[in-house]
Amino acid sequence: RVKRAGGGHTMFQARQDQRSPLEIERLGALHRALERGELRVYFQPVVLAETRAVVAHEALLRWARPSGMVSPLDFIPLAESSGLIVPIGRWVLQEAVGALQTGRLQRASVNVSALEVKQPDFVAYLRGLLSESGITPRRLLLELTESSLLEPRFGKVIRELQSLGVRTALDDFGNGYSSLTALSNLPVQVVKIDRSFATRVGEDSAAGRKALEVVRGIVTLAGAYGLPTVAEGVETAGQAELLRAVGCTYLQGYLFGYPAPLD
Ligand code: C2E
Ligand code: CA
Ligand code: CA
Ligand code: CA
Repeated sequence: RVKRAGGGHTMFQARQDQRSPLEIERLGALHRALERGELRVYFQPVVLAETRAVVAHEALLRWARPSGMVSPLDFIPLAESSGLIVPIGRWVLQEAVGALQTGRLQRASVNVSALEVKQPDFVAYLRGLLSESGITPRRLLLELTESSLLEPRFGKVIRELQSLGVRTALDDFGNGYSSLTALSNLPVQVVKIDRSFATRVGEDSAAGRKALEVVRGIVTLAGAYGLPTVAEGVETAGQAELLRAVGCTYLQGYLFGYPAPLD
């Protein structure tokens, strides 16, 4: 349960006492990490399936700890349940927009949590950031997951983003039960196929062949809505070829590039 404090930011309240001392310590550490600039944004290339030309980069958070780089999977849940994802997410947006502004990236996509979308000033914040930067809003793609669908304001927010000129993608498609509803109800511009499918594609097994057929089905479905698809988690040349052959528009994965610092 997250309670909204005065300034539109969210503050963690009720569950605080239920947190273990370790969690409380980690939350404090994450807070300091943001303030001290220990968070990093890595970028991973997205390529056009047909030509393998790099067309965009996805921003992926990292936490540089003395013990090494920490994956977002290890701290995003804590950032979300505490509300800290809101300032963190805005910082990631600033970093991505900065990289676009200086021309170091052509296009960038940024992951956005449901709690960020829920902020009443989310669109206003983005509008301000974009107009300050002067970049063409179309160069920014926001990746949203189905969890945002539970937000009653979600459809309205997407339409507001569209009128801003920002594009949106439905992330992790296929990994959930409401995907079809999402696709038919929401005016998203890109479908990102869940990584678990690409991982299985190319396996010489019933599961591998089935995964490929599911991808083919998703591509057809997305095509019926006029939407391009991104297959992520592409690690082998075999997977890339199969995914291209069934019609995925874009590919992303270690085969083409690991997430890396902008430099
Ligand atoms: P995601 O949005 O589905 O991002 C793709 C994940 O797949 C990334 O994990 C990426 O490093 C990984 N990946 C890319 N190519 C390959 C591959 O070929 N093989 C394998 N095995 N993995 C690959 P990462 O960076 O650990 O991020 C995990 C999740 O954390 C992301 O999943 C996203 O949901 C979330 N996340 C990352 N950055 C942010 C952020 O700035 N804000 C929010 N709200 N969430 C973020
Ligand atoms: Ca993503
Ligand atoms: Ca994904
Ligand atoms: Ca995800």
